[in-house]
Amino acid sequence: MSNPSDHPQPPGTRRPPIAWTGIIDRYAEFLPVTDATPVISLHEGNTPLIRVDRFVEACGGGFELWLKFEGLNPTCSFKDRGMTLAVSKAVERKAEVVICASTGNTSASAAAYAARSGLKCVVLLPKGKIALGKLAQALMYGATTIAIEGNFDDALRIVRELGETGKVEVVNSVNPVRIEGQKTAAFEICDQLGCAPHFHFLPVGNAGNITAYWRGFKEFHTAGRVDRLPRMFGFQAAGAAPIVEGHKIDHPETVASAIRIGNPASWQGATDALNESKGSIEKVTDEEILEAYKLIARTDGVFVEPASAAALAGIFRCAKEGKIPEGSIISATMTGHGLKDPDTAISSAGFEATVLKPDTREVMKAIGL
Ligand SMILES: *Cc1c(COP(=O)(O)O)cnc(C)c1O
Repeated sequence: MSNPSDHPQPPGTRRPPIAWTGIIDRYAEFLPVTDATPVISLHEGNTPLIRVDRFVEACGGGFELWLKFEGLNPTCSFKDRGMTLAVSKAVERKAEVVICASTGNTSASAAAYAARSGLKCVVLLPKGKIALGKLAQALMYGATTIAIEGNFDDALRIVRELGETGKVEVVNSVNPVRIEGQKTAAFEICDQLGCAPHFHFLPVGNAGNITAYWRGFKEFHTAGRVDRLPRMFGFQAAGAAPIVEGHKIDHPETVASAIRIGNPASWQGATDALNESKGSIEKVTDEEILEAYKLIARTDGVFVEPASAAALAGIFRCAKEGKIPEGSIISATMTGHGLKDPDTAISSAGFEATVLKPDTREVMKAIGL
């Protein structure tokens, strides 16, 4: 295809811009929007799909692994895909206030898109349990930020009750429009690979995303854009694995705060995705999560948040157990950027910078030259 920027620009003219203007513009035909929907976008989506051969080698090799790096969205997590649609629909309905419960990334995204649209935003966070980068975002974007002395599930219950008053628009993934926006990541993976993967791996918290991906893959298949469906593999953290255990967890615990959820809102959607795709859901320990978190940064230069690494820990284990057929094409969602949670990064890296006098010889000695 000819690229407008490859041609010289005649004096006094302006070349047509090459612009990505977000997931609603790109995939409108698959989304619940009309010409009357005001599109509130920060140009989310179009995130890179990165092939990570060195990580695969560390797993023992034999398959292709492609990471959908959702940390490169405008607020650095996949939540922006659902939020552009949820806030656009809220504006269309003439709402004035959007509200959400959040382990952090939903609030960061809601706050940004609310700011972009001029809506007020209220976020309810579990007190003391939110990664520093996410809190910084909610505060910077100007959301009214309330810390609940409880966990995410407590905050979501309150938000649902407030939603029933009809005075606020709930933008959690219980809002069906969020799932619609999030399914566009599956479309992009198919477009970027040129086919559907054989397997898709992702972390599972509230289970909105696994529901959304499965819907996206199915819709692209029905539309004839791909000729097969992937099997879906979800991973929960061992201390917060209600779907794996088959019951609610009252006090979920894990280092991966984005999936520290004991009673997933989209439980049924996850179960359907797993059954229909002949997939499975398993749990990984915090140790496995942190190992994979460090490994992917060091093998391939991809820095993700701990929750995203749950999917990588799952791939690592499946590969070691010989469960991945030779030649498989695998995609995995890297849900959020590593910089969201600097405390976990610094404590996991396990060392501090070496402090030296400003002297070249001392530096040479320290690095062994
Ligand atoms: C929200 C989130 C998840 C979990 O997604 P669900 O849709 O709740 O299952 C995982 N990782 C990150 C970084 C998130 O922000």
